[in-house]
Amino acid sequence: MRFTILGSGTSTGVPSVACECATCTSTDPRDTRLRTSLLVQDDTTTLVVDTSSDFRQQMLQHKVLEIDAVLFTHHHFDHIGGFDDIRPYNFRSGRPLPIYGMQETLDVLRSTFPYAFGDVVSTGASVPSIEQHIITDDPFSIGTIPIVPIPMLHGASMKVYGYRFGDVAYCTDTNHIPVHALDRLQGLDTLIIDGLRWEEHPTHFTIDQALEIVNHLKPRRAILTHIAHQILHARDMQRLPDGVEFAIDGMVVNTTS
Ligand SMILES: [Zn+2]
Ligand SMILES: [Zn+2]
Ligand SMILES: [Zn+2]
Repeated sequence: MRFTILGSGTSTGVPSVACECATCTSTDPRDTRLRTSLLVQDDTTTLVVDTSSDFRQQMLQHKVLEIDAVLFTHHHFDHIGGFDDIRPYNFRSGRPLPIYGMQETLDVLRSTFPYAFGDVVSTGASVPSIEQHIITDDPFSIGTIPIVPIPMLHGASMKVYGYRFGDVAYCTDTNHIPVHALDRLQGLDTLIIDGLRWEEHPTHFTIDQALEIVNHLKPRRAILTHIAHQILHARDMQRLPDGVEFAIDGMVVNTTS
């Protein structure tokens, strides 16, 4: 399988509008981060995790011509904002696009984009065409890609799903991974995990908290994502231990599984 980090930035994107901090004015391309999203591909199946607010730009940059399904982690706007831009995939395939998410995420998509769910009388504009699939904690497959949901917490009470694909796991937007979910993350080659910044945050792992999970699971490689503008890549990478790195937009992880 092949994994491409489509975006590694926090909800505002980096640089953020209306900010002149060292990262937001940096000329280092590693400090430019689109909203968090992942492309997962094998020889026959292409999945996108979340339709980020930068979805259109991400699909253009990586020349993604076909998508078999979109898999949602949760329904914060930075992860669903590009939903309307799935329409060209409908045009190309002539089919509804399968979308997978927990019930609450599908409900919020429906209330945010009611015209795509038949809840608004058509005005003639084209609308996304979708086929809904509800995710529970049970493992499933899309095409030839096996998926193990990782139920996690994002803040005190919001549920979010991470996903394991073979020996790679993607766990963004979380500040707590329960013990039973950690059991699903044993024996990883690569863990891509929320590592917002050094300072505490109510809904995201700090880098030190992410490193605790990494120390516990001991993947061969760990990649921190959903990175805020408090992180200046060249400066802060010096503080990471061996085997741990910051995600960079466009970074590719290949595995043989
Ligand atoms: Zn987010
Ligand atoms: Zn800034
Ligand atoms: Zn979130």
